[in-house]
Amino acid sequence: MIFQAKDTVNSDMMNLTDMNVIRSLAKRHRFTFSKGLGQNFLIDPEVCPAIAEYGIPAPEYGVLEIGTGFGVLTQELALKSECVAAVELDKRLAPVLKETLAEFPHVKIVWQDIMKVSLPEFLKEQFGERKVAVCANLPYYITSPVLMHLLESGVRFESITVMVQQEAADRLCARLGSRAAGAVTAAVQLRGRAEQLFAVPRDSFYPAPKVDSAVIRITPYDTPPCTQDTLEAVLRVVKAGFAQRRKTAVNALSAVLDLPKERVTAALAAGGHNANVRFEQLTLEEVLALTENLK
Ligand code: SAM
Repeated sequence: MIFQAKDTVNSDMMNLTDMNVIRSLAKRHRFTFSKGLGQNFLIDPEVCPAIAEYGIPAPEYGVLEIGTGFGVLTQELALKSECVAAVELDKRLAPVLKETLAEFPHVKIVWQDIMKVSLPEFLKEQFGERKVAVCANLPYYITSPVLMHLLESGVRFESITVMVQQEAADRLCARLGSRAAGAVTAAVQLRGRAEQLFAVPRDSFYPAPKVDSAVIRITPYDTPPCTQDTLEAVLRVVKAGFAQRRKTAVNALSAVLDLPKERVTAALAAGGHNANVRFEQLTLEEVLALTENLK
């Protein structure tokens, strides 16, 4: 595999943040943007280099991109990594990418729905023994399913650096125990540290979406806070607790998990909570302790 270091990559690289270049590509290839596939492409020249900088620890890391669009982020990832594999669903992009990624032989495009990719086998095939980082401007209609697909795959990613809608970023990175948190917050934060890196306004995209975005990074824990078996139990408790978040934790958990109220009350009391506490008030550690106490 030939890797071209940043300063040797030729200056012919197409500038995909230039609206004239984008319009010309779209026109020549008769490409129309699909709302359904979340095709809002980045046009702010500072955002893609920043995602690559935050997301790729070193050139030898394999990088998985989800959704290439015209390749604006793919180019930046290819400048920083020796080996990039990008999964894209929309095959109409093939002739565009042939042009825009022409000078990056170390980028492999795989035409598939990311949700149907079996990640352990796929990553082994693409990257062998390399450590793997994920970088993407995610299609918004499947943000949480994609993140869960990555986190539940059994693959130990070095980091997952992705653009998501601001509202999703707030939820994913919220503190458990705050009102902004939800079941997906716990599902993510039981597996890794989630942080918001920077905000990206809606006019950084073409076509511009109706809402602003943010780039977040999830760094999977070296040592998870609980075992896989416990994790499944915790996730059941979390799902139940947030399913009826306005109710007290006792009512929500006993109704959804079909447990006697006395047992839930006792488990909460063992963690120092009174019977009126709502599930959304519990921190991650308290949810872990509650699950133990419910066993
Ligand atoms: N990376 C480009 C950028 O930043 O400009 C494009 C990002 S755009 C928000 C999302 C991309 O994901 C689109 O190219 C879309 O076709 C692709 N996509 C949508 N659903 C997908 C899926 N299920 N699997 C793989 N790619 C998908």
